[in-house]
Amino acid sequence: MSAQFLIKNLKEKIMNFEAVSDVTEVGQVVDIRDGIARISGLKNCFMSEMIELPGGSSAIALNLEADSVGAVVLGDFGNIKEGDVAKRTGKVLSLPVGKNFLGRVIDPLGLPIDGKGAIKNDGEYPMERPALGVIDRQTVNQSLQTGIKSIDAMIPIGRGQRELIIGDRQTGKTTIALDTIINQKGQGVVCVYVAIGQKKSKIARAIKTLEDKGAMNYTIVVFAGASEGPALSFLAPYAGTAMAEYFMEKGKDALIIYDDLSKHAASYRELSLLLRRPSGREAYPGDVFYLHSRLLERGARRSKELGGGSITALPIIETQAGDISAYIPTNVISITDGQIFLETDLFNKGVRPAINVGLSVSRVGGSAQIKSMKKAAGKMKLDLAQYLELEAFSQFASDMDAETKKTLERGKRIMEILKQGPNSPIRAGLQAAIIYAANNGYLDAVEIDKIAEWEEKFKDFMAGSKEEVLKEVEKSWDEQIEKLLKDALEEFKQINS
Ligand code: ATP
Ligand code: MG
Repeated sequence: MSAQFLIKNLKEKIMNFEAVSDVTEVGQVVDIRDGIARISGLKNCFMSEMIELPGGSSAIALNLEADSVGAVVLGDFGNIKEGDVAKRTGKVLSLPVGKNFLGRVIDPLGLPIDGKGAIKNDGEYPMERPALGVIDRQTVNQSLQTGIKSIDAMIPIGRGQRELIIGDRQTGKTTIALDTIINQKGQGVVCVYVAIGQKKSKIARAIKTLEDKGAMNYTIVVFAGASEGPALSFLAPYAGTAMAEYFMEKGKDALIIYDDLSKHAASYRELSLLLRRPSGREAYPGDVFYLHSRLLERGARRSKELGGGSITALPIIETQAGDISAYIPTNVISITDGQIFLETDLFNKGVRPAINVGLSVSRVGGSAQIKSMKKAAGKMKLDLAQYLELEAFSQFASDMDAETKKTLERGKRIMEILKQGPNSPIRAGLQAAIIYAANNGYLDAVEIDKIAEWEEKFKDFMAGSKEEVLKEVEKSWDEQIEKLLKDALEEFKQINS
């Protein structure tokens, strides 16, 4: 045997040895408390790697230190003890995905929690993955109707957009999200509702609403409850996004709701303290920013070459006393393409949905708004701002000129027509017709307290005998269609007077 051959042989052995040792690297749990395992001996472990523990448990590596790895145990950690064997898997944390998850309620590991049996999956997706690059995306150009008049008229959302819903507690944030899901019926949009750190009773109510409205069969609910510890809450949004990515990559449009990211940030804080990361304020805001931007960048509209498909993301943030300048709100505001800002004051005054029109924007959805609504709502946002200013001012004025009076009366009616009850989204054509009526003086003669009644009757009238007109309005907008709508409005006026 020549020396050359020996060397070659040895080299090969060494190469193979490394390949094998990589996967079978085994370590030992040296410390376990509060669901955090400190493991020694996993020298090559990487960030977010899944680690196998005895009894079928697993953990994810979140802290890579010089002589140990800090890992969060997923689920129950009661039977894990010091000295237990811990094995690397070489895989980042992933979860099963597929179309059979539609209509189901799952935990962030993809396991069903609705008692309806096992779910057959179509493969596994990593929870974390890099977002699409610039070239692989296209601009938002198709509307995602929320069914809520004030949003579709003034803060329109497009497929692939990220729009923040922000407000104090009990201002109707979840309601807007659920109504948007309900309104996707028959629109070919798959919905994922991620509930983070919420009470079980609350989520049960949300699921019941979705079921009652027939929205559950195109929806996946990912639930990590307040009682299940911070690890699952932390993972929930990533799990939901992986679910949505499965559909996006099949060329479908998906809508994902993160309810809410404030609780997600809190669960991350809990985890980092348990992992003994520095608790100083200087590390945490940066971490959270990175956490949320990494997540929201995965919302996208894929290019035609990639077969289209999109993820529209509606993250929710809960503010304290309306303070949107705290760092978590400002972070998410800067990451998203706009925000819907809800206010307690408005809510209590009966303006519901309690949207502050002045502070709410949609930076990209305008180009995706349906044509008729664009025309009907045109400068509504401006008019409304003008009205609100005039209104505040006019409280001190005793006599007003006719023009001011008219602006005020019109404004009052527009405010009134934008009110909408929960769980009753309205189809696009009907919304555009109502907004058109309000902005073109068809409501000027209606008493303020009769406007809700007018709207109900008008909706019945249109749905009952003007299906053709609504279809036209939904498709496009030109003089002819405007004439059709005007005729319908006149006809309704005749009947109704
Ligand atoms: P939380 O901070 O507790 O999560 P939230 O901001 O998500 O609250 P919701 O749970 O959506 O708020 O709504 C709070 C209450 O207000 C609910 O009882 C809901 O029915 C009511 N509500 C929400 N939107 C409207 C609306 N448009 N019209 C009337 N009532 C509404
Ligand atoms: Mg809520």
